[in-house]
Amino acid sequence: MDNSTARTVGFKPGERNVFFHILTACNLSCKHCYINPEQHGTTTVSKGTLEKWLKLFVDPEKETNIIFLGGEPTMHPDLPFGIRAAKKLGYRSVTVDTNGFLFHDFLDKVTPEELDFLSFSLDGPTAEVNDPIRGEGVFGICTENLKKAVASGFNVSLIFTVSRRNIKYLHMMPPLLAEWGVKRFFIQVIGIRGKTAQDKEEASWQLTPEEWLEIVPGAAAAASSFGIEVIFPKVFLEKDEVFECAGRVAENFFIFPNGRVYSCPLCEDYPVNMNRIENGCLVKNIGLTEENFFSLDIPEGCVLNKLLQPDNLQYNSNGRPLYRISCCLLKQEMKKS
Ligand code: SF4
Ligand code: SF4
Repeated sequence: MDNSTARTVGFKPGERNVFFHILTACNLSCKHCYINPEQHGTTTVSKGTLEKWLKLFVDPEKETNIIFLGGEPTMHPDLPFGIRAAKKLGYRSVTVDTNGFLFHDFLDKVTPEELDFLSFSLDGPTAEVNDPIRGEGVFGICTENLKKAVASGFNVSLIFTVSRRNIKYLHMMPPLLAEWGVKRFFIQVIGIRGKTAQDKEEASWQLTPEEWLEIVPGAAAAASSFGIEVIFPKVFLEKDEVFECAGRVAENFFIFPNGRVYSCPLCEDYPVNMNRIENGCLVKNIGLTEENFFSLDIPEGCVLNKLLQPDNLQYNSNGRPLYRISCCLLKQEMKKS
């Protein structure tokens, strides 16, 4: 019998998350890549900047989680230094999100004690499903390195970005994850950002509430029945659920190598970042920024969703939305009880 229940994880007061893109370069060219070099630059943060910016975002009064991302963060030779520096500075948890290639002998340069989670991105249970999205040969390399990481004692999680192209294969993931020793399963919904925003065909990958609700909660329950912790976005709010914008009630920093600091990931294709790093300090931008959108209340829920990816909304004959879209940062958690 399955004893798993989904719990919406509200934004915890005082919690801070720092998503640090230490470079934008990557060895892959995924079809749904959200990195936008025009907006995020093409630079790599230097070792000195890495340390300075880590100091800038730690707050001794609050628990702060850091996630190192790219591009592909293991292409940065100073990533192990950054992980150690973050631990020393007192970040509550340190995670690295990788495409699985693990450059610079990454597993030999850090220990499982220094890294709380190593997260691999994979978008299908087989090469036939994954590789047309992430690239030829990626499934084999990613799964081989994932197994090596588990065997070396690292806590491993897996990120699966669900779209119309792979949703029907999601149910095949839970037994594989259990076999591989994955501890956490992040199910993400495809966003219309970066490449997907520029490509008509990719934008048609967006899911309807019916498609999402028919498959995702069931796959999450199946994974949790194997003892895997599952985290997936809320996306569609129930009638009695309160809408909250993380931009108003939580502290999230999405940092890019060109110094832009966003609070909402949906804004990353536009120069509307609320903050920037200038001369080593965090400076608030003036004029129109993402903050102006956070305070708007609309019947559809998230304002940025309505502006940037309205295809996931539906209306009745009176023009009223049939449901509200939650903040993209609102998650549900499923654990075996
Ligand atoms: S691995 Fe990540 S950064 Fe690299 S192309 Fe794919 S989505 Fe983009
Ligand atoms: S996704 Fe929407 S609700 Fe969430 S922070 Fe951005 S604007 Fe606010």
